[in-house]
Amino acid sequence: MKISELLKKDTLSISFEVFPPKTDFSFDTVKTATEEIAKLRPAFMSVTYGAGGGTSKYTLDIAKNIKSLYGVPTLAHLTCVSSTRETVKQRISDIKEAGIQNVMALRGDIPSDRMNEDRSKWDYTYAVELIEELTQSGGDFCIGAACYPEIHPESANQREDILHLKEKVAAGASFLTTQMFFDNNLLYNFLYKIREAGITVPVIPGIMPITNANQVERAVKLSGSFMPQRFKSLVDKFGHDPDAMKQAGIAYATDQIIDLYANGITNVHVYSMNKPDVAEKIKNNLSDILGK
Ligand code: FAD
Repeated sequence: MKISELLKKDTLSISFEVFPPKTDFSFDTVKTATEEIAKLRPAFMSVTYGAGGGTSKYTLDIAKNIKSLYGVPTLAHLTCVSSTRETVKQRISDIKEAGIQNVMALRGDIPSDRMNEDRSKWDYTYAVELIEELTQSGGDFCIGAACYPEIHPESANQREDILHLKEKVAAGASFLTTQMFFDNNLLYNFLYKIREAGITVPVIPGIMPITNANQVERAVKLSGSFMPQRFKSLVDKFGHDPDAMKQAGIAYATDQIIDLYANGITNVHVYSMNKPDVAEKIKNNLSDILGK
């Protein structure tokens, strides 16, 4: 099922993100974790793509497995910046053959040792080129793209970032998923600005439950997200106690989701990171709200 169709529902739906194994040895562990999450019957599940990594082939294996065993619609991520045109075309053909209809079209991060290369020689420089490749592939895909309420770290300013976002939508992205954020006001502000700029496709907020103190530093480094004082206090108080931190992080993420729904947002994507217990607790916390 196409995600653009799922997004038409006006009751709260939750989707989860998982990532493929980083080594061949961990395939079975990841497969089991993703199946546990699929059993929670989320609206859909997304499977990330290790840019240029040797295990990127597993994205499709995991996505196919979830779809065929549990009937959960899947969204296969695909990146382009570290790949040749030939590889990307092959991946698109594999996705099509696997019967996966939804593709998250991403550029991927530029490896630090390639930052100073002549980019005119690359097969792909921006995600918009991958979106064009997908639309020209004859695959009838539902294409998603990434967006950044707090601006992509390489962008000079938000106006430019939104301009390029608009190009991705014009090229064929039919929905957008946001980078994680910990202050919902940043999302509301961003939505106002993109709607004003004429971007009308659905936006799915991405919520990251922070369940251990080490994750905080990584998350901030990765996304550049602003940490509200309320969140910092929680990490200061519970960071040293793994069980308490997990409970507090799940409660914070749940609270963000409830606030989003109360403000009219019906689809929320949870960066569940192959943690079935976290995904389940969030779903349980929302049990009386889901579907209403
Ligand atoms: P783009 O849309 O190409 O944007 C990158 C930068 O270039 C931005 O600053 C943008 O403003 C600018 N830009 C875009 N077009 C132009 C243009 N024509 N001219 C000049 N500047 C331009 N990474 C992975 O490796 N695997 C994943 O599975 C993955 N999943 C993700 C899912 C989500 C929801 C998000 C938010 C990110 C994900 N990422 C993933 C990370 C993503 O690959 C990085 O954030 C990457 O740096 C940018 O990807 P993009 O698709 O947003 O790039």
